[in-house]
Amino acid sequence: MRSKKTVALIAHDNKKSDIVNWAIKNKDALEKFDLCGTGTTAKLVSEATGLDVKRYLSGPLGGDQQIGAKIAEKKIDVVIFFWDPLSAQPHDPDVKALLRIAVVYDIPIATNKATADHVIHSSLI
Ligand code: PGA
Repeated sequence: MRSKKTVALIAHDNKKSDIVNWAIKNKDALEKFDLCGTGTTAKLVSEATGLDVKRYLSGPLGGDQQIGAKIAEKKIDVVIFFWDPLSAQPHDPDVKALLRIAVVYDIPIATNKATADHVIHSSLI
């Protein structure tokens, strides 16, 4: 059995600086979790915060699908996903599949900063 809950971090390119700043601001809360993320997001957050963030593949290369699979295996408990509502993504079907699987397994998936703030400080997790 896992001792800590696992949080996945994902951000599209135009949202990378937002998730890095959010992670810096919420470092104390994030320290209580096991962290993972899509390739570039995980790398940037880890470098900026010093936190250990397990790296999956980059989103467009299958990282979203890997995280979706871990949700289905019940190995990811929360997703912080800063997606870009203003740009088309080459891996849009994967993005949609990730959102869908998070709903199927009823896990919290925060898709903007305001929701992420609420989720990460929630007594429910
Ligand atoms: P990345 O992937 O963190 O590797 O950039 C994110 C995405 O585009 O889904």
